[in-house]
Amino acid sequence: MALQYASIIIDISHENVDRVFQYRIPGNLLPEIRIGTRVCVPFGSGNRQRTGYVVGITDQADYEESKIKEITGVEPDSVTADSRLVELAWWMKERYGCTMNQALKTVLPVKRRVKARNQEVVRSLVDEKAASRPPVPLNPGQAAVVEMFRSDYDRGLRMPCLIYGVTGSGKTEVYMAMIDHVLAEGRQAIVLIPEIALTYQTVMRFYQRFGSRICVMHSRLSAGEKYDQFERARRGETDIMIGARSALFTPFDNLGLIILDEEHEGAYKSEGTPRYHARETAEKLARIHDAQLVLGSATPSLEAYSRAQAGLYRLYCLKERAGNASLARTEVVDLRQEMRQGNKSVFSLRLQDLVRDRLARGEQTMLFMNRRGYANFVSCRSCGEAVKCPHCDVSMTLHNKSRLVCHYCGYTIPLPKTCPACGSAYLAGFGTGTQKIEELARDMFPEARILRMDLDTTSRKGGHEAILSAFAKGEADILIGTQMIVKGHDFPRVTLVGILAADTSLYAPDYRCGERTFQLLVQAAGRAGRSERPGIAVIQTYMPEHYCIQTAARQDYGEFYRQEMGFRKLMAYPPDCHMLEILMTGKDEGLLTHMMDQVYESVNRNFRGAVQLIGPVPAAVYKVNDIYRKILYMKQRNYDILIRIQTYIQDRWDETEACRKLTIQYDFS
Ligand code: ADP
Ligand code: ZN
Ligand code: ZN
Repeated sequence: MALQYASIIIDISHENVDRVFQYRIPGNLLPEIRIGTRVCVPFGSGNRQRTGYVVGITDQADYEESKIKEITGVEPDSVTADSRLVELAWWMKERYGCTMNQALKTVLPVKRRVKARNQEVVRSLVDEKAASRPPVPLNPGQAAVVEMFRSDYDRGLRMPCLIYGVTGSGKTEVYMAMIDHVLAEGRQAIVLIPEIALTYQTVMRFYQRFGSRICVMHSRLSAGEKYDQFERARRGETDIMIGARSALFTPFDNLGLIILDEEHEGAYKSEGTPRYHARETAEKLARIHDAQLVLGSATPSLEAYSRAQAGLYRLYCLKERAGNASLARTEVVDLRQEMRQGNKSVFSLRLQDLVRDRLARGEQTMLFMNRRGYANFVSCRSCGEAVKCPHCDVSMTLHNKSRLVCHYCGYTIPLPKTCPACGSAYLAGFGTGTQKIEELARDMFPEARILRMDLDTTSRKGGHEAILSAFAKGEADILIGTQMIVKGHDFPRVTLVGILAADTSLYAPDYRCGERTFQLLVQAAGRAGRSERPGIAVIQTYMPEHYCIQTAARQDYGEFYRQEMGFRKLMAYPPDCHMLEILMTGKDEGLLTHMMDQVYESVNRNFRGAVQLIGPVPAAVYKVNDIYRKILYMKQRNYDILIRIQTYIQDRWDETEACRKLTIQYDFS
């Protein structure tokens, strides 16, 4: 048998995780050594014994055989939190076609020490209120789910489960009961919540239940602060990590449970390299730890629901709202009809009546508009040209009636007095954003106290929390906002939700736009009537007959799933098929076009018939920040074939001249 060699990292928390050293694996150790194993090796000129992690195994020697040292032995406690993360990194490398170095950098926090200021802040808030609150008695539906979970868990069954629970069905209480069960066995839990829903309110619910055993990680923490949170977990000072996507890589050594709340959220997909999906990665991590994975959503992703249908996930349903609340009644308003009746306002007559009614009764209203700024774009009434960002391929958005802002690169100019193209003075704003809605609402409902929440009003630190808590305390009657306001917030006094332009997201150039629209509408409607007082959701649309609008209005996930899945099958889109999206970007447009065509041709030549190629096409926004972007799509039911193609492309890419001027990114779905 050929000699076997291991690539070993000595200092895992070092910034340069690419500093790997090759060692020979002695025959007697072969059966014990795999990716992630902790080993003892002679290191440096003095051959001092050091501990390292195996990150690769091969039968190819990188150096002259006589210069390669031998592994001394396997460490007695060879399975640690880190060794498991190394194993996860290996899986990510294989699954997403990145290098081991990129994968390690994703899963292992870099050592950088700073004062852990933020956590202390959080802490003082907690000490006042954390006197642990007894759990709410579960309703029969919740209790049944927890019971099945416990019974499966105790028998060692580890099939991932999906909790499909309507908005307000009390999923959080269910999660906390599950965590209790796992903690009682001395194991730890990770709870992933999308950043946008990771609010003070949510975190407080966990604090009140588990006190100082929880740790929170959000994107506003610095790298050093994140590292400190991870260190607390490593030292066993915490049992529950709550956070956005990257909290998945908390180095717990006996992880028992991973929860992904709002599993359908797009934010669970990483934008960096590797473009990993937290749901898939959590599933793998759970297997490595023999832990349980729990997904929860009121609007499950097609990926998760189809896996439940196929028997790969266990499905639990919570069909009713917890406590005394019932689901909001939904009404669809046809905006074409409004127009015919002479109502040109952004508020339909029905919505106006309902808002006035809430104002009279002292109840609250949320108005949702999926676009910020004042006007969507400004264009010239003489020549028809819209004012575009000089660096990006998009029109600029009007803010405060005085500035034009590019939402892609942030470039800002004062609103020009005349048309940059023809000099005409007739420039006008078209399309409506949250700022304009606020102004129109102030005119329409002069007695109302109004708050607005979008990227512009929350960019200051704490802006987000300040608006939410003012609204929660009843300091405003109407909250206007972008999708920021629809995610997971619980305001008992809101009895009306108005979705002003339900169609905005239906036109996005993306096969997922129907799914996203459905999710947004159901989640937005889910904000109304969360306590005793019943709620109404009004969906304003130009396409009342569209299946996404219809099924969302009826809160009929089953029917939505059936229709949407039919569309995905017809078009061979995920999850019916796998897709590899290759994004190539660069300043040199000619070179970009040339290289993209080369990639197309070589794949077409070498994998003829094995894959369906679409493109290359310009990205939805072709130029951002003076960088051009092109995309090539490949569809194939067999994931492994896509990986083979990706490896083939990357191997050749590394040898081209162009690779120094262009970047290439892979996105699997
Ligand atoms: P979801 O996450 O499913 O949208 P939440 O967990 O936020 O729902 O619960 C919605 C509301 O119902 C919360 O105010 C919560 O305190 C309340 N609630 C949850 N479970 C119960 C229960 N068993 N009895 C009474 N109220 C409950
Ligand atoms: Zn003009
Ligand atoms: Zn721009």
